[in-house]
Amino acid sequence: MTPDVRDRADRPPRARAGAGHGIPESAWKRALRLIDSADEIGLACHVTPDGDALGSMLAVAFTLRAMGKRVRASFGDRHFAVPRLLRFLPGQEMLVPPAEFPAAPELVITFDSSTFERLGLLSGNTARAAEVIVVDHHPAGAGFGTLGLIDAHAAATAMLAEQLIYRLGGRLDRDIATCLYAGLVTDTGSFRYSSTTPAVHEMAARLVATGLRTDEIARELWDRSPFGYLKVLAAALDRVRLEDGLVWTYVTRVDRAAHGLPYAEIEGIIDVVRRTDEAEVAVVLKEDDEGAWQVSTRSKGAVDVGAACAALGGGGHHNAAGYTSHDGVEDTMAALRRELGKA
Ligand code: AMP
Ligand code: MN
Ligand code: MN
Repeated sequence: MTPDVRDRADRPPRARAGAGHGIPESAWKRALRLIDSADEIGLACHVTPDGDALGSMLAVAFTLRAMGKRVRASFGDRHFAVPRLLRFLPGQEMLVPPAEFPAAPELVITFDSSTFERLGLLSGNTARAAEVIVVDHHPAGAGFGTLGLIDAHAAATAMLAEQLIYRLGGRLDRDIATCLYAGLVTDTGSFRYSSTTPAVHEMAARLVATGLRTDEIARELWDRSPFGYLKVLAAALDRVRLEDGLVWTYVTRVDRAAHGLPYAEIEGIIDVVRRTDEAEVAVVLKEDDEGAWQVSTRSKGAVDVGAACAALGGGGHHNAAGYTSHDGVEDTMAALRRELGKA
């Protein structure tokens, strides 16, 4: 079930794979044992999944299914729907809504989620699981689960998912590669961020070699949107403010409703705002359908936005982080400015 794959030509030598170095061999071995002995496995990724969360989970789901495991994959959003941007990902027939997730699973594997809370409606199921394997690349916080496959130096959870797939004896096909590639390009900003190491490009080469269409994936992820997006972007840019190295704006649910734009469509606004030369930190407050503010923060490197967001109940990476606020725009910004001043 878990053959040694080190010498297979279609797989990367482990020493060069470049991800998972922070993970002891004993942890991988234990993960394989836990997976081997489980008949049914629940897979969970963080709420409002991005390409890395959903892509990593679906790639591993394909592999486990090929091994003959019963797999139920989900994420714990109250309104369970795959964001339009990610509907091109193969394997969505393996997804079930959170209500159909095993109540007390023998094994859960989580993807790209640094806390229980980020699992949303699935946090209870995961807490009741006999074993929980955490596959993640966020800096270790409070931590959860019974076994961590966590490497904060990995550019994406997809890099760890690829390692897990190889170690399970799986191989890359075009569907699995498409899922992993979605994670890799999302979290490296299309190979632009500082996390883009030689290992990232080597992994990309393995994935592209399966014949996937990088142009189509990029178009699905970033180069299309409903017309209403332009209108909502215009509203957000119209009220953007620059103050003391900080550029920020917000998008209300009223803005979106006026153009019938779902919440998931506004993810890219931060990428427009953060280009501002005069600002070190960029922030976009996004009001979700429940009226809570989802705060997206980006840094160019000098400020640790991950620390600021962690202090406000969220988390993330040094240069990209977020949290949820139930205060108004001005109060939310006041609290964030305070934390950014410390970070
Ligand atoms: P986003 O701005 O939504 O793209 O999020 C950037 C990063 O921040 C994500 O990759 C997560 O690591 C982290 N993050 C965002 N929202 C939260 C949250 N509510 N709690 C913890 N981490 C978050
Ligand atoms: Mn993520
Ligand atoms: Mn990630």
